[in-house]
Amino acid sequence: MQRIKYDAIIVGARAAGAVMAALLARENFRVLLVDRVTFPKTTLSCPLTFGNTFEILQRIGVLEKIQALGAPKLRLYQTQIGDVHLRGRMLPYAGFDYAYQIRRELYDEVIFNHVAQMPNVETRLGFNVTELIWEKGRVVGVRGARSAVRGRVGGGDEIEIFADAVIGADGVFSTIAERVNAKKYNVIPGHTCIYFAYYENVKPAASEPTATIYYDAGEHFAFVTANSDSELTVISISLPATQFERVRQNYKNVHFEYAQKIPEMGERMREAKRVTPVYGVSPRDSFYREPFGNGWVLIGDAAYYKDPLPGQGIHDALRAAELATQAFVEYRAQGKTARAWNDALRVYHKTRDRETKAMYELTNFYADLERPRTPQEMDFFRAIASSPKWSSIYVSMFNGVTSVKWFQRLDTMMRILLGWKWGRLKAKLFRVPPIENKERTNATA
Ligand SMILES: Cc1cc2nc3c(=O)[nH]c(=O)nc-3n(C[C@H](O)[C@H](O)[C@H](O)COP(=O)(O)OP(=O)(O)OC[C@H]3O[C@@H](n4cnc5c(N)ncnc54)[C@H](O)[C@@H]3O)c2cc1C
Repeated sequence: MQRIKYDAIIVGARAAGAVMAALLARENFRVLLVDRVTFPKTTLSCPLTFGNTFEILQRIGVLEKIQALGAPKLRLYQTQIGDVHLRGRMLPYAGFDYAYQIRRELYDEVIFNHVAQMPNVETRLGFNVTELIWEKGRVVGVRGARSAVRGRVGGGDEIEIFADAVIGADGVFSTIAERVNAKKYNVIPGHTCIYFAYYENVKPAASEPTATIYYDAGEHFAFVTANSDSELTVISISLPATQFERVRQNYKNVHFEYAQKIPEMGERMREAKRVTPVYGVSPRDSFYREPFGNGWVLIGDAAYYKDPLPGQGIHDALRAAELATQAFVEYRAQGKTARAWNDALRVYHKTRDRETKAMYELTNFYADLERPRTPQEMDFFRAIASSPKWSSIYVSMFNGVTSVKWFQRLDTMMRILLGWKWGRLKAKLFRVPPIENKERTNATA
């Protein structure tokens, strides 16, 4: 049998895999990018992406093509909990002061097509990787067969493909992670289930495109809406994990049903029409996986998964692609030895864990929808919401401008709280009006 040898085979050709293929190809490595599906193809995800993602997409030359999809730029980010309405503008990350909400079938296809025509990249779609090939304790390739796509029958003759490294970018239920028995750590049981769909004719939440989250502390749910491509609005509801089976009985109506519990949302959905199926995501554990071993590397959701509520998955997937590429370049520069491999990949592992720790903890805090909200927590939130400056700094944790660790430091929190309390005291003593957050939703204008 002929041994076709690539520098890397990447299994999974969406966010993580396609971007890593592009980054490796730019370093003159020969890459094979495979996926069991063909594009366009949707997936269980309704993503907001931010400036820190656009910066990486710009680097591989695809950002203009994403922008050409014409999705509205979301500059205003709103969170409502009970009577507290926080409205903040994203501070620019690398010059990008907006987010996008674009359907995955468009987003992934644009990126894949761009990467597929790059020199050094070969692709194989409709190819299902079933096994890894090992030699002397090292992964040296993959085994797979055609998958059942577009009415085609799957299976048939298996083929073997060889490479210096196999990259698992194959999502949360990663076959590669399973075959190498990659250990999970920091596992947190899934707090939420999610139902999402795209709608027409949803009334806007403000006089400009927005992403808006409504938390209902009493009934424990989070309702996310965002203006998307093609004049659609995505609506996604996160509910406690325990609600998954109950909601499943009548999932098609879930958004209309819960919208009635939030007066503004009920009004916004009065004439809404659903244009996609309602997709349900059952509760999933959050986890880190050990992301490398002899001849294999994991990136994206295969390596690190957390609740989607704060919208960090795609950025984290792209950042992992970037770190893993740097490690591969270093390994090759250091003479392709086992030691060089371990040293370089250890840097990827450590950097990823260090960079994501604070947001991982914050995500799990937010995703615990049944957690009682203390008066102190609500006061802190009220204090942030009262100030346009702090509101912007707060929402800019999600595009990577504000350090989560810094925002959660005691002295930062005290500055926010004391500033708010002092404003209220001044208002009382000297009849000075407290500073008001002038951003308005339609409902409150
Ligand atoms: C409801 C929901 C909402 C979300 N919202 C956001 C958001 O707002 N912002 C955000 O940034 N992230 C969001 N995410 C997370 C985001 O979707 C993921 O983090 C991201 O898709 C991870 O990309 P990936 O490339 O690692 O994996 P995936 O996108 O899962 O892609 C994996 C690919 O691997 C392929 N594959 C799998 N197994 C094999 C195999 N054996 N052989 C060949 N191919 C294989 C699959 O076909 C698939 O195409 C959300 C997720 C969910 C569930």
